[in-house]
Amino acid sequence: MRQSRIIAGLGLAAAALLTLTACNSGTPGGSPTGESTGDGAEEGTWFTVAEDVQLEGSPTFDAITDRGSVKVGVKEDQPGLGYLDPTTGDRTGFDVDIARWIAASLGYDEDKIEFTAIPSANREQAILNGDIDYYVGTYSITDKRKEQISFAGPYFITGQGLLVGADSDIASVDDLEGKNVCSATGSTSIQRIKDEHPEASTTEFDTYSQCVEQLKNGQVDAVTTDEAILIGYAAQDPDNLKVVGDVFSEERYGVGLTKGDTALQEYINTMFTDGGDIWQAIFDKNLGPAGVEGEQPEVDPVS
Ligand code: GLU
Repeated sequence: MRQSRIIAGLGLAAAALLTLTACNSGTPGGSPTGESTGDGAEEGTWFTVAEDVQLEGSPTFDAITDRGSVKVGVKEDQPGLGYLDPTTGDRTGFDVDIARWIAASLGYDEDKIEFTAIPSANREQAILNGDIDYYVGTYSITDKRKEQISFAGPYFITGQGLLVGADSDIASVDDLEGKNVCSATGSTSIQRIKDEHPEASTTEFDTYSQCVEQLKNGQVDAVTTDEAILIGYAAQDPDNLKVVGDVFSEERYGVGLTKGDTALQEYINTMFTDGGDIWQAIFDKNLGPAGVEGEQPEVDPVS
């Protein structure tokens, strides 16, 4: 898997005028300046909200401006990536912070973001319907999806892996003969098992957390999806779950956008390209602790 690190350093001259707040503890975003809003901002103000943003030619940005708020699609059952804590109501994760970063660069603070959890199978339709302005949630850039929507990014690259019980005899994707493998409807993960591993049977749910429950109950033998997602589940229950084998695909995460909104696509890509330090801080806070590895990829040309 080839990834290239974008030069670290803040491109303050760029459209997205963002700075990461200072932090005493070394934890990104640990600024004492912010107060808890109960929705993920408990560690302080991560991003400076841009002012007087001009974005010509973006129908999405026009709709956001008219509405005065941002509607974002996310996942909320994927620890480390997109997670809603049922007790505190806090949203955390790499994808959620990427979504916040985009909102801030468009001029919108946390209290002007409306998050909606949308499962894998419903993402394109939600964007087509205009239910959300953009989607950030382990959303692989694929040619098929690009027929209906556009993507900014990629902003992260991972690959498909396997999660099994701690005492499972499955060690890699080569051990799936006669096994029942669970994944989410509408994902690249379930499709790849169907296409490339007919020796396995499959079980589908809307979400990966449902699959993890089935695995813990012994109803399925393995859960398959992106390794970055699986590592988050394993980190929550290391006594009972483990990630095994090498990754067997390349999943390039993009921000789902209305098809043809190249102005917004370009704006977000510039934000990624110029915001290497912010990207790194978001990664280190959310994915680093669980042992996910990765570097910021170069964005695709706008098309
Ligand atoms: N990244 C893969 C996909 O977009 C699997 C994860 C997911 O379903 O969000 O299909």
